Amino acid sequence: MTKRDIAAVRLHYGDTIISFHCRPTAQSGTRVRIHVEPDGRVIVDAPPDAELQAIKRAVRRRAAWVHQQVEAARSRWAALPSKDWVSGEAQRYLGRRYVLKIVVDPTQAERAVVSGGYLRVFVHRRERDTVQRLVRAWYRARAEEWLTRRVTDWSTALPWVRQVPPITLRPMSSRWGSCSPRGRLTLNPLLIRAPREAVDYVIVHELCHLKHHDHGAAFYKLLDRYVRDWRRIKTQLDDLAEALFAER
Ligand SMILES: [Zn+2]
Repeated sequence: MTKRDIAAVRLHYGDTIISFHCRPTAQSGTRVRIHVEPDGRVIVDAPPDAELQAIKRAVRRRAAWVHQQVEAARSRWAALPSKDWVSGEAQRYLGRRYVLKIVVDPTQAERAVVSGGYLRVFVHRRERDTVQRLVRAWYRARAEEWLTRRVTDWSTALPWVRQVPPITLRPMSSRWGSCSPRGRLTLNPLLIRAPREAVDYVIVHELCHLKHHDHGAAFYKLLDRYVRDWRRIKTQLDDLAEALFAER
């Protein structure tokens, strides 16, 4: 194993993505050790002679524990300030980047608006907390509107979906969506930052679970029929995942 070979590795645990960084230890023959950093990054110390497959197996065996630790670390981390919320910072919306622009104007209602390449935030006074609150409320409203609309459109288009399923938006730190056995969809509001085709892929994936609750061959056959390109889209979304999950 070389540092270059497996600097960043990703594995799938159900619908959950676990990505981790490998750090070769000084001696061979030692055990694989898994750490979860305060920001939720997973670091795996592995002996230099370990095979990647063996390292992955070790992480997979402890996947439930790793997942739980990552969720806990990320929710603690999420409570910490991450941005300065000043003009010039990038914000992602449906796969595009918008530049944050703070407009101080006491005569206008405080709000956030997308126009051109900008996410403009009108405030009465230049206060970081106000900007943050307005931007988060804007994302939330956009997520509710867009995700509901796409679930409705796809529910109409897919023949096995009889009615629009109930939807819950819930921030989750390592998955995009889920479908309960009773047919309730849970979607991650962070999806509003991902490209449109990725939003659609996640929604169709979950709606396919209304017909097939597992990830068996029939499930993938159905998904293939409605999102032909889903493997490419999924790879792209997986590559974006770390950046998007770090945004809030
Ligand atoms: Zn699934």
